[in-house]
Amino acid sequence: MQLRQNDKEFEFVAKAEKAIAADLARVDEIALQNQAKVLDAFHAHNVGQRHFAQTNGYGYDDIGRDTLAAVFADAFGAESAVVSPQIVSGTHALTAALFGLLRPGDVLLSVSGEPYDTLKEAIVGKDIGSLADLGVVYRSVALKDGDFDVQAIKEEFKQRIKVVFVGRSRGYEWRDALSIEQIERLCKLVKSLQDDVIVMCDNCYGEFVDTLEPVQVGADIMAGSLIKNPGGGIAPTGGYICGKKELVRQATFRLTSPSIGCEVGSYAYGYREFYQGFFLAPHVTAQAIKTSMLFGAAFDMLGYQTMPRTGAVCRDIIRSIKFNTEDELTAFVRAIQSASPVDGNVTPFAWDMPGYEDQVIMAAGTFVAGASIELSADSPIRKPYIAYLQGGLTYEHRKIALANCLKTLNLIH
Ligand SMILES: *Cc1c(COP(=O)(O)O)cnc(C)c1O
Repeated sequence: MQLRQNDKEFEFVAKAEKAIAADLARVDEIALQNQAKVLDAFHAHNVGQRHFAQTNGYGYDDIGRDTLAAVFADAFGAESAVVSPQIVSGTHALTAALFGLLRPGDVLLSVSGEPYDTLKEAIVGKDIGSLADLGVVYRSVALKDGDFDVQAIKEEFKQRIKVVFVGRSRGYEWRDALSIEQIERLCKLVKSLQDDVIVMCDNCYGEFVDTLEPVQVGADIMAGSLIKNPGGGIAPTGGYICGKKELVRQATFRLTSPSIGCEVGSYAYGYREFYQGFFLAPHVTAQAIKTSMLFGAAFDMLGYQTMPRTGAVCRDIIRSIKFNTEDELTAFVRAIQSASPVDGNVTPFAWDMPGYEDQVIMAAGTFVAGASIELSADSPIRKPYIAYLQGGLTYEHRKIALANCLKTLNLIH
């Protein structure tokens, strides 16, 4: 990277930034409210050094683990939570929740189209102990014009539904994420159709984007990854599940064993990074959103299609940018990698990532391997050529990365 502060690429970045100044200020407002929520949760549970301690063995009465869960639950407005370094990824957290809630013969209805690739496989995969293998019936209703298809959902409720699944973020689709207001309307709708239906939300990339979380507007349970928003770029691994007490309890039986749940589980490295990451998460999420807006404004000005549109409120931390060719997409992803603080010298290639249908190319020059709250970009290699860009621990870093992309793609003349 050979950029200088007075290069024309930086001038262009400054121009894009000026165009969205008012939108950027709104993001800071949301971060302030969320920071207050998290601070209140820390205070409510008297978080102290003792909670960061290393534990080992079974981990009975591990106060670091239990208090961390209580802090998450409070900040997210949930009755109960499990937060654990033993949850290996977002998919694991979501899978545990689904397997905890569903029994043979139950119907799972996805109302936001197909779930994220890795989760879909856990639901319908053959001979892998998927939900389908266990006799759970899976159905899905696609979104219609970026919103829930109310008529089609009503039609599905002619049979008994056990769990309604909502994916808040966009996944690898050309659509915007769902807003908290949309999720609230959905919860009201399905509960009016069947009052004991359970609404579960894939909250990946959605945490702290708004001032309320899905469980505060009617969802019964939600789950996500700690190497995305709520880990604040500091948590080294892990996932969380939050929601109604009994439902979270059922999920813990799947996470460990039906006889022990989450009364066990130790962590020999100590919990400080999880607490510190969660404390930083509102700010770090805001940094990611602001730079998503900046990339959007810049590529918009250059005539590219991006999602969400410039001026729209962000509903997750992702920026989708549609490129014209596979080569252009690949060059963009590589430019992101070359602007990364770690492995900046590495060239990404598309590969067969486990759990994904198409080959995926991924830029993730991150301190925590694969952490997409850090600056990262990924894309399945399929038409149309959409890059999904997300994360970035600091806004300043993302400005440099944007200038680098503009220069690599030779877009500013
Ligand atoms: C990241 C993500 C997941 C889970 O993915 P992991 O890589 O297993 O953490 C699920 N759903 C969405 C929308 C995601 O973005």
